[in-house]
Amino acid sequence: TAALSIHNLQKTYEGGFQALKGISFEVQPGDFFALLGPNGAGKSTTIGIICSLVRKTAGSVSIFGVDIDSDFAAAKRLLGVVPQEFNFSQFEKVFDIVATQGGFYGMPRKLAEERTEQYLKQLGLWDKRHTQARMLSGGMKRRLMIARALIHEPKLLILDEPTAGVDIELRRSMWSFLEEINARGTTIILTTHYLEEAESLCRNIAIIDKGVIVENTSIKSLLKTL
Ligand code: ADP
Ligand code: ADP
Repeated sequence: TAALSIHNLQKTYEGGFQALKGISFEVQPGDFFALLGPNGAGKSTTIGIICSLVRKTAGSVSIFGVDIDSDFAAAKRLLGVVPQEFNFSQFEKVFDIVATQGGFYGMPRKLAEERTEQYLKQLGLWDKRHTQARMLSGGMKRRLMIARALIHEPKLLILDEPTAGVDIELRRSMWSFLEEINARGTTIILTTHYLEEAESLCRNIAIIDKGVIVENTSIKSLLKTL
């Protein structure tokens, strides 16, 4: 079974704009996959549909064989998403933001706290555990979102433009962290509009433009054609 299977996905926004014109692609378990495309291509729309924040017009999405329409709760347990916008409470403390998320998955508090410690340490945020989120830099907020998305150890992690606005040094350390997570068996999909980012991290790629998948191949073969 594919880690993610998207079939003929369509989205027409209210007002009639067709953001996705029937896209299909699959991501295999263990892959590090890039969804690459310019601004406005339909990347965030695709991710919004996968995590049920955006209602699709037509098509289907399944995660490790679980159709999101038939069992979203089961699909959600397999999925971690890092959206572009910071959507945690600015006045809550870093540790609590991550640990509380465990409760949403019915995780015992002790386990949630252990994992919170583990991921905050790995992401260089342990010193900030008592700090309110609003005091963090942009790069730290991004890493906080990643820690929170990992608390239930999802089999599939999806990140929407994870390094947008992050400086080059920090970008490298985020990349190596993601590579580590992937090496431990987590399937990762990221969206980006930098070919360079896709190139340095990912094995396979789909290129989306104006709501259409225009290329779906390995990074190696893509680079040969350029
Ligand atoms: P990307 O993430 O690749 O930049 P998006 O999925 O955010 O692209 O947007 C795809 C297209 O859909 C864009 O043209 C955008 O303006 C449009 N769009 C996104 N959200 C809405 C919305 N809520 N209503 C109408 N159009 C939207
Ligand atoms: P910015 O100011 O660009 O938003 P941050 O303030 O988030 O960056 O980063 C603070 C420091 O933490 C940086 O010097 C960066 O190298 C370091 N850092 C980033 N990621 C990690 C990580 N995964 N583990 C340890 N340290 C990190």
